[in-house]
This record gives sequence, structure tokens and C-alpha cells, in this order.
Amino acid sequence: MSVQVVAAKMAEVELKDVPGKDLAAESPVTPMSEGKNLAKNDPHEAGSSAAASPTAEPSVKAGESSPGLLTPNPVKMPQASAMKRPDPQQNGGEAFVNRDGTVAEAPRMKKIQFADQKQEFNKRPTKIGRRSLSRSISQSSTDSYSSAASYTDSSDDETSPRDKQQKNSKGNGDFCIKNIKQADFGRREIEIAEQEMPALMALRKRAQGEKPLAGAKVVGCTHITAQTAVLMETLSALGAQCRWAACNIYSTQNEVAAALAEGGFSVFAWKGESEDDFWWCIDRCVNLEGWQPNMILDDGGDLTHWIYKKYPNMFKKIKGIVEESVTGVHRLYQLSKAGKLCVPAMNVNDSVTKQKFDNLYCCRESILDGLKRTTDVMFGGKQVVVCGYGEVGKGCCAALKAMGSIVYVTEIDPICALQACMDGFRLVKLNEVIRQVDIVITCTGNKNVVVREYLDRMKNGCIVCNMGHSNTEIDVASLRTPELTWERVRSQVDHVIWPDGKRIVLLAEGRLLNLSCSTVPTFVLSITATTQALALIELYNAPEGRYKQDVYLLPKKMDEYVASLHLPTFDAHLTELTDEQAKYLGLNKNGPFKPNYYRY
Ligand code: NAD
Repeated sequence: MSVQVVAAKMAEVELKDVPGKDLAAESPVTPMSEGKNLAKNDPHEAGSSAAASPTAEPSVKAGESSPGLLTPNPVKMPQASAMKRPDPQQNGGEAFVNRDGTVAEAPRMKKIQFADQKQEFNKRPTKIGRRSLSRSISQSSTDSYSSAASYTDSSDDETSPRDKQQKNSKGNGDFCIKNIKQADFGRREIEIAEQEMPALMALRKRAQGEKPLAGAKVVGCTHITAQTAVLMETLSALGAQCRWAACNIYSTQNEVAAALAEGGFSVFAWKGESEDDFWWCIDRCVNLEGWQPNMILDDGGDLTHWIYKKYPNMFKKIKGIVEESVTGVHRLYQLSKAGKLCVPAMNVNDSVTKQKFDNLYCCRESILDGLKRTTDVMFGGKQVVVCGYGEVGKGCCAALKAMGSIVYVTEIDPICALQACMDGFRLVKLNEVIRQVDIVITCTGNKNVVVREYLDRMKNGCIVCNMGHSNTEIDVASLRTPELTWERVRSQVDHVIWPDGKRIVLLAEGRLLNLSCSTVPTFVLSITATTQALALIELYNAPEGRYKQDVYLLPKKMDEYVASLHLPTFDAHLTELTDEQAKYLGLNKNGPFKPNYYRY
């Protein structure tokens, strides 16, 4: 069989297996909190029933399947079921789970200021007031990842979108965006993104006859970018109605929002919202007479918490929450722990495909982009120290090595340290190289990795930046002292100058470099968006009782499915297990192919 045929067959088979109807359970839906060991549900676990009998009957009965899915044959559907993420809060409440599943100290989370506390939307602050509010924005609205490219910025028209009456060409005015006239530009952006989002496009094609989200009313709060637009238009093709707000006050691509509004979507977002605008937009999405959401797609948890706070009765009709970010997932676990989570939730953040691609491959690509755009630095021959050799660090090191940089690594974990050595990097302590390096990059997820002492010893012109989630890795605050002069030389680029004339180049004030200064590859976002779409389909169609009021991880089979949908892009040739091989390994020929504890 030719490569193309195999790839096409694979895509065909997998598309038929789009989850939802009866993602015929290879294992029961069992939250960890009920005392079940994850491995018990794993066919690889010796002694588990699945291992003993790879053809063991699913625990979900065929008759439980729900209507309106992409395939008439529910038998091979993967089930978003078995694995619930352990709740780190159970151990004293001081821990949270990183993107990679490791447990770390709980971040200090700024409490959301809900609008009912003070602000009334119709008593809006003045323009200046609005700008200043944007500094104290919700906890997640400024800290997650997005593609930052945009044709427009918020300064080209000072009128607040809230003060404008706009309608699309069909006379519909149920949206609030910067400028509907930018729709054509936005459409082009969306079309470009579609090229790099093959799985969503495949889902759309497949859904022409079947509408697995028919009747779904999805309210979303994510970055409003071309990639999100592809997701929204896919959800719509699958039968859903969507209303959307931005999860970040800066990341909206105004022209994309315009294209969505022109296409009939109710979008409430623009670049440069104030905090008041931010909550107003979310409220406009949710609070509409005659329309109630039954699904939530959230990035950061602000939308979910808004509904909890303002419209708790809505949860009677809501079938589930899909959450993408580490922050939002953390908040869901808090709700779950407090016994306040009243619908099932899917933690997309910790899917294997999300973690591996977002952290490793995304950073491998965007580290160079971020450095180049801000500094025009040449990488060949430069000495770089990368702090942390986890997924993000590995990506950064690989990219820099490929460009001819001399790369040093610092690590605290001997396993990651050994990996760095085996990959050909010199493992050092930061103080051993700090005087000689040209670039310092932190990616530890830790705090105070680069402290003032190191900053003092860096050589003139050293570039300092961070790829970790929070801006605490570099002790930027220690640089705000009277003897040091700060010079803003470009957007997101500061020269910090010592009394002797030495200057270091600080990027994005120690915030995530790629979030602040570059874009994130669309293909990576495609993987995440596909996972979100599948999670929505699964939760929406799951029979009563499959999911409890708890937080679930997507099962490995769904991760594998997301990956398989992206393989045809590469004309990739996936080998199929023979019957004999499948039996020998104790696997189902259609997966899952790895145990849950497998680390890739
Ligand atoms: P990880 O846990 O896999 O890796 C972090 C590594 O840093 C670990 O190996 C750890 O041992 C090491 N480390 C911790 N403290 C250290 C110290 N003081 N000195 C040296 N090494 C130290 O995590 P990850 O997936 O690589 O993510 C790292 C950070 O990047 C997280 O904050 C994560 O949220 C963030 N992140 C950023 C992006 C992005 O696009 N920039 C994408 C994903 C994740």
C-alpha cells in the first residue's frame, strides 16, 4: 500500500473514530479522588483487567451513546474517560501542578476582582481611567500564550468600541469589536492560519453530514487570534453556536475579530481593553436574553468564575467546561476541592500533545524569533547559558545549538542534567560562566534564578531573558535601584546601565519572551485547538453519568488521535501493528499504544 493511501486510510479511520458518540470505553470513568490507581486502568499494568484481556468489554454500554456525532459506528471511539489528574491540593494545599505534571509551590494568585464588587458597566471610567485600569487586570488575562501579530493596534482609533454602533453587512450588530471594516484583512489572516491547522479542517470536512455539536451553545474566552477563529468556525461547522470574549486584554487581533463578526459570530473583544471592558465583554457573551450557554471553553478560568459568581443558575444547563491553561486548571481543582465544581471539566492543559508541543517544539521555534526581533543578534558562535533543561529548556538549547551557538546548561535535577550532558551541552553552575556569556535564558519555572549578584557580573551587552511562565526567574526588581539607569531602546527592550557604563539588554522586563516579543507557531496551536474541539464534543455528547462533577484529563487515546490527525501534513508513514505484534505486546491495534505513565 502506498504511503499516501496508508496516511489517507489512517486519517479516514481516525476521523471515523472522532470521539463523542460512544467513545467506547476501554476503561471506566474513574476520578483519582475515588482512590483508584491510574495504572489500574491501564492495559499495560500487569494484573489490570485490560492487560489480562485486551478485548475486555468497555464499561460504558453501547446503549449509552449519545446522538449527533461524526460517526454512525461508536465501537472504536476513544473515550475521554479514565484518567483524572491527581489533585496536588490534597497535600496541604501549598502545591500546584506544572504544565509537565510536576508539583510546585502554589503561585501567589491575584484574586479576581468581580465586577459586582465595584464597577457598574454603564458607569464607565473615562478614557484615561480605562487605560490605567488595564494595568490591574485579571490574573490570567495577561499571562498566557498567544500569537501577537496584528495589523492594527488600539491606538489607531481612540473611540471605545463600546461607544460605537456597528453592524455587519447582514445588519447583525450582536458583537463589539474595534472596527468591522477590517474584516477582509482578518479573513486573509484566518485563511493563512487554516493552512497550518489541518486537523480542524479535517474535522470540518468530516462533519459535513454529521453535527456532533448540534444544539451546543458554546461560550468561549480565549485569545482571539486567527487560530482561534479557525477553531470557532470549526465548532460552528460541527453544529455549535458560539459567543466569544478575549481572555487577554492585549492579544486580540482586531481584524480577526472583525472577520468573525462579519461572519455572524458574536464576538466581544478588542486589543487594549481595560479591566472594566474585559469583564463587560465576558458579561455580554453570557448575559443574553433567550440564550443560555451549555458548554464553556475557557483559557485562564475568568469566564468560568464569572458565571459562578454572577449566574450560578446557568450551571443547571451547562454540560461541561473545557479549560486550557495551567492557571485555569489550577482554579478548577480549587473549586473541585472545595466541593463547588458542579459540572464535569476537561483539563486540556495537561494532555501529552499539548505539553510536548507547546513547551518543547513551540519554544524551540519561538526562542530564536523572540531574540532576533528584539535584538537582531547573530547566534553563530555566541555563548549562551540556558537555566533549566526541562521541555522548554530542551527546545531553546536545540534551537541555539543548531544556529551554531555555544550552549551551557544549568540544572538542579541530576536526570535532566544528565540528559543535557548526553545531548552534548556543558553542564555548569551559573556563576562559572556568568562573566563570559553573551545571552542568559531562564526556563525553570522557578524564582530568583538570576539574581542581582549575577546581573552585576555579566559582561557589557549581555542579553537577559526569560522563557518561563512567571516573571520571577530574573530578579528584575533588584535592578530598580538609583545607581542603575534604565533606557527603553525598543518596545520590550531595556538597556540597564551601570555607573561604569556597562549595560545589559533586558527583554520584556523578564516576562515570557516569546509571549511578549514573538509569535507562536500556528501548527502548535492547531494541536491544542483540536484537543479543545474533541474535549467539547466528548463532554457534550457523553451519556449521563460518564463524567461526574470533577476534573478529567483527556485519555491517551484522544491524544493519539489528535497527533494522528496532524500526521498527513507531513506525508508521514505510520506503521500498523500486525495482529501477531498486537497480541505479543498486549495492545489493541488501534491504541492506546502507551501506558499512562509513559513519558515520551
Ligand atoms: P520543566 O519542569 O520540564 O523544566 C524546568 C526545569 O528547570 C526542570 O528540569 C528543573 O529541574 C529545572 N530547574 C528548576 N529550578 C532550577 C534552578 N534554580 N536552576 C536550574 N534549573 C532549575 O518545565 P518546562 O515545561 O520546561 O517549563 C518551564 C517553564 O516554562 C514553566 O514556567 C512553564 O510554565 C513555562 N512554559 C513556557 C512556554 C513558553 O511558550 N514560553 C511554554 C510552556 C511552558
